[in-house]
Amino acid sequence: MTVFSVGQARITRIEETYLPTYRTRDLFPEFSDEIEARHAHWLAPSHYDSATGMIKLSVHSWLLQIGGKKILIDSCCGNNKIKPGRPFWTNLNTNYPERLATAGARPDEIDLVMCTHLHHDHVGWNTLQRDGRWVPTFPNARYVFSKPDFEYFQTLDTDPKTAPAEMGTFRECVLPIVEAGRADLVTGPHRLDEHIEIVPAPGHSAGHVVFKLESGGARAVFIGDVFHHLLQVYYPHWNFPKNSDAEQARASRRMVLELCASSGALTLPGHVGAPFAGRIETSGAGFVPRFG
Ligand SMILES: [Zn+2]
Repeated sequence: MTVFSVGQARITRIEETYLPTYRTRDLFPEFSDEIEARHAHWLAPSHYDSATGMIKLSVHSWLLQIGGKKILIDSCCGNNKIKPGRPFWTNLNTNYPERLATAGARPDEIDLVMCTHLHHDHVGWNTLQRDGRWVPTFPNARYVFSKPDFEYFQTLDTDPKTAPAEMGTFRECVLPIVEAGRADLVTGPHRLDEHIEIVPAPGHSAGHVVFKLESGGARAVFIGDVFHHLLQVYYPHWNFPKNSDAEQARASRRMVLELCASSGALTLPGHVGAPFAGRIETSGAGFVPRFG
């Protein structure tokens, strides 16, 4: 189990999957033999699968325990869901709930669920199907969603040309939470409490946010999908193919990299491979990751 300490906070990675996913050049057309050679010393085996030429991505939640609260950040894909074009995340049958319990949180103990954005691989465990209805998995939790993201996906979900949004997960994993009165829709920047601030970082999705944590003078930033892979720290203009606004995604990536580098924050992405979190440092006009 991967655990980090930031001041009084304890942060545990809850793994759903950690697999080779996309062919590297399909994800990043800029990836060349020369770039592969330059970065070969750190890419495999944690971030690249040499046998298949595929990028390795983790899907995980972060369990944040601070001030007696148990906060789940992003809730992965969930079990038994069909994900067209994503065989590695289709029809999963993981023991994610048991892993969460082992890390110290049964479903009824979670106080807050916070989603950096409302893509299908960040909302999956928000709900469970019970008696044919989608109900909150975490019965005592408030759920914090970005209001701009909610409105963006609601529009897609009500337009017959784009519905159902996010492969149906908007209807299954987001809307039922709002209808149950468990959601807090926030517009950033927004201070949640003495430790946590919500900061807009749009582009990958329309209302993507990051969560800044401060405890005892130590800092962390949960960055969601501002970057998916450490190659994007070296090459911040490389976008993951799926974005609501490609240029905005690049601008947000630079903003968050600068924020992480200037504050010395522990940087916790949503999909980067082992050791899963680390620091960002400036290097000339650019950035380098110090992960492990
Ligand atoms: Zn994601």
